[in-house]
Amino acid sequence: MDRKLLIERSSEGKQSVVLPDCDVPEKAVRDLIPGKFLRREKCALPEVSEPEIVRHYVNLSTLNHHVDKDFYPLGSCTMKYNPKINEAFAASPYITGLHPFGDEDHAQAALKIYYEVEQSLCEITGMDAYTLQPAAGSHGELTGVMIMRQYHRMKNNHKATILIPDSAHGTNPASVHLGGYKAVTVASTNEGLVDIDDLKAKLSGDVAGFMLTNPNTLGIFEKNVLQIAELVHAVDGLMYMDGANMNALLGLVKTGDMQFDITHLNLHKTFSTPHGGGGPGAGPIGVKEKLIPYLPVPRVLKKAERYVMSWDHPESIGKVMAFWGNYSVIVKTWVYIRMLGEEGLRDVAKHAIINANYLRASLEGDYELPYRSTPMHECVFSGDRQKCHGVRTLDIAKRMLDYGVHAPTVYFPLIVHEALMIEPTETEHKASLDHFIDIMRSIRRECENDPETVRSAPHTTPVKRLDEVKANRELNVRW
Ligand SMILES: *Cc1c(COP(=O)(O)O)cnc(C)c1O
Repeated sequence: MDRKLLIERSSEGKQSVVLPDCDVPEKAVRDLIPGKFLRREKCALPEVSEPEIVRHYVNLSTLNHHVDKDFYPLGSCTMKYNPKINEAFAASPYITGLHPFGDEDHAQAALKIYYEVEQSLCEITGMDAYTLQPAAGSHGELTGVMIMRQYHRMKNNHKATILIPDSAHGTNPASVHLGGYKAVTVASTNEGLVDIDDLKAKLSGDVAGFMLTNPNTLGIFEKNVLQIAELVHAVDGLMYMDGANMNALLGLVKTGDMQFDITHLNLHKTFSTPHGGGGPGAGPIGVKEKLIPYLPVPRVLKKAERYVMSWDHPESIGKVMAFWGNYSVIVKTWVYIRMLGEEGLRDVAKHAIINANYLRASLEGDYELPYRSTPMHECVFSGDRQKCHGVRTLDIAKRMLDYGVHAPTVYFPLIVHEALMIEPTETEHKASLDHFIDIMRSIRRECENDPETVRSAPHTTPVKRLDEVKANRELNVRW
């Protein structure tokens, strides 16, 4: 189509786009698009009033569960309430209007935000430098594995395996594999901690590192972490911290002090960005001094009073993300950290821990508790006790939807039968925890007295029980 039809130049030479007269594009379009693709009849756009359209979208927005609607105890995912002020800042035109190819001089404020977030994360975790590029926790893991490989390669020391505990999040072995290593599993003890004897048996000169989550996915703090680090360092392995559970440690424990060499953080979890459903995330990687040369480029550095993008790091693993990472998530982190301050961040962890322990203590009479150690920010029950009524954890989770709360994480960690992994987060108050406890007790009674109602749940949601096998076998994502 002739572009002149669409662009008009004013007498001052300003360009503006004008909607062309309807007849003109129709003809032009007919020349461009083969006839068989053109619609035959006029498009019947609905005529609706403003209140109708508002109601339509408000109703749609509430069909799915979300944390603005009710409790969302999805274990390991930290579905905390995200303060709206984060969104207001991130949506500011000063943030959204920045062009990714813009000049460094025009992006000084943005670079300052990057720099300050990096500094704060160093302070929070005891690492020496960060990259904010990775777009998710799993992407951070892969970046960390690449840094491990580079560290060993620079020493001409080629290693083939990375150890992970059997309680690890599924992304851990995936990242290890994607990074070109073999994942070797270390067993857990019946306390839910790394089995030191098994670790010793699996350690050798071939081990590039150990990827550990602390507190682990059972919500339990690895109290032997210093001993583990010593053993791993003794074979020149690197300690990698999966810091997705940092909500339990903020202001209380630094991962650097636990002798981790690399730490990833899930900004979208701990530092409060709405996530799930494919929304943007950020999984920055922090490293100790000796690994700084291998961090992705560009690094944001401060030279005198100016912030610069620094590319001259010849041993770097390179870039791991288009442009400069998910800037809006980084802005939200900056706001969140500044708003809470050191005391506030420490309170986050303390309340997250108290809330999880309150749920655990309240529900241990109703549901099986496979690991007795005191948990940190989440607790893992098992639906094993309910099995004798012919009810499985999946049914219990589905039944929760009828009561208006999100289901917990189920069947993970893999080492727990019929796992129900509950993470209340610090943003729930006591009344909401008590309400959840009542729901869990009601469902427990239903399992005993009316198991069919639980087995056929959910009954009140817009979509009822799905045939998951059929959905997997006959995948159809269109309508
Ligand atoms: C969420 C999570 C991850 C993965 O993070 P993504 O951002 O979803 O890729 C890794 N490890 C643990 C323990 C997690 O909870």
